[in-house]
Formats: sequence, structure tokens, C-alpha cells
Amino acid sequence: MRRIRLILLIALLPLVACCGRRDADAQRPMVGLSCGRSESGANTLGAAYTDAILRAGGLPLVFPTIADESDARELVASVDGVVLTGGPDFDPAIYGEEILNETVEIDPVRDRSDLLLARAALDSGKPILAICRGGQLMNIVLGGTLYQDIPTQVPDTLRHGGGAIHMIGVEPGSTLYRLFGKDSLEVNSYHHQGVKDPAPGIRITARAPDGLVEAFETDQVFATQFHPERMAQADTAWLRVFRHFIGRLEPGRK
Ligand code: MN
Repeated sequence: MRRIRLILLIALLPLVACCGRRDADAQRPMVGLSCGRSESGANTLGAAYTDAILRAGGLPLVFPTIADESDARELVASVDGVVLTGGPDFDPAIYGEEILNETVEIDPVRDRSDLLLARAALDSGKPILAICRGGQLMNIVLGGTLYQDIPTQVPDTLRHGGGAIHMIGVEPGSTLYRLFGKDSLEVNSYHHQGVKDPAPGIRITARAPDGLVEAFETDQVFATQFHPERMAQADTAWLRVFRHFIGRLEPGRK
């Protein structure tokens, strides 16, 4: 009887060891997300972002607002990829302009935090998903500029912002094209600013009918001016953007 128990134990041991190892290997990719700030100073982020990461198989970790470069570097080092999220306008001083008019609403604390995270994320080489303000952030960090106020700076523009819906033309061969297999898509629009001078080295992959940049990419960055996380709440097709991003992450590479 004792021998049978012993044999059973020996027989089960590799199974236990194997399952233990498999759990460790099946570690989900961890995604750090920048956050916004409320007027009272709270760190905030819409749950649509973290829900989309979870549904796409990633483990979201919301980064707080930070003010130190070392904090940015250590936060980025703790995750496998970074999502730069939406928010208010940028201070145009960042790209060498003065504030154009009273429609430009800035938050210097958020600007500083985002710039530190963006540079740390770029330096890490880890994949970056940049949404709305996050995409604008990538453009200015890589050397481009923004329209401060689209309605006054872009002639004959269509309505961007406020939850408007508009078409975009998608560049064949781009990642966005491969994800949907379509050269035009209907997207939401919650932005007041947009890419003016594209940064050197970015590939513009989608434009609105008025010419405004709606998506761009580099080998490291996938940027949209629209909000796929919000569209994914009603249409699971938009989870493709997040599954693609999660699929590029390399858990364990720190
Ligand atoms: Mn738009």
C-alpha cells in the first residue's frame, strides 16, 4: 500500500512541476497606461482603456502622474508595453509656439508627466500604443508640431471632436489596413488638436477627408487620433487594435 502511494506520488510529481512551470510561462503581458488628471488633482483614466487591454489578453497597470525622469524610467521598466492615453491640449511652447487663442486648454503637470513617460517609453524600445493626445504626444516628442485649434487653423475642416463620427481613408499596406482589410473606416472624434507638421520618420497611415492625420506608425509606435477603446465597447472588431498591440509585447524582456 505504501509502495503504491509512493509510485503514485512519483508519477504525479512531473505533472505538478509541469503545471507550475506552465503558469509561470503563461504570464500575461503587462501594459502601463498614462493617466489624466481631474481639476481637483485626482489621477483619472476612463475604464474603456483598461477594459480593452483586459479583453485583449493583457494586464493593465495605470501609471500615476509623475514629475521625475527616474520614476518614468522605472515605471516603463516594470511593464512590457505602454499606452499613451487621451486628454487636454498641449502647451505649444513644447514645440516652440505661443498659445494661439483661448480655446487652448493646457495642464502643465500632465504635460510634464506625459513627456517623461513618452521619452522613457521610446528609449525602452517597447511597443507603444498612442491614442488621441497620446498620438499627438508621440508626434511632438519625435519632432513634429500640432494644430492648436483645428477649426481656426485647418481650412474647410469637417467636425472633429465632441464625439463626431467621420470617415478616414486608410493607407494600403499599413498595420491599420491589415487589421481591418479596408481602405476606409468610420471612426469617432474627440480631439481639439491634431498633427500639423508630421515628425520625421513617421508613416501617416490614415487621414480624414479634410486631410487631417488620423493614424500614423513607426516600427515601435501605433498611433490613432480616434479612440479605438471607446469603439471597442460597442464593436468588438476594434479590439483588433489592442490584440495586435498585446501580440507584439515580449513578457519577461525588462
Ligand atoms: Mn477626427
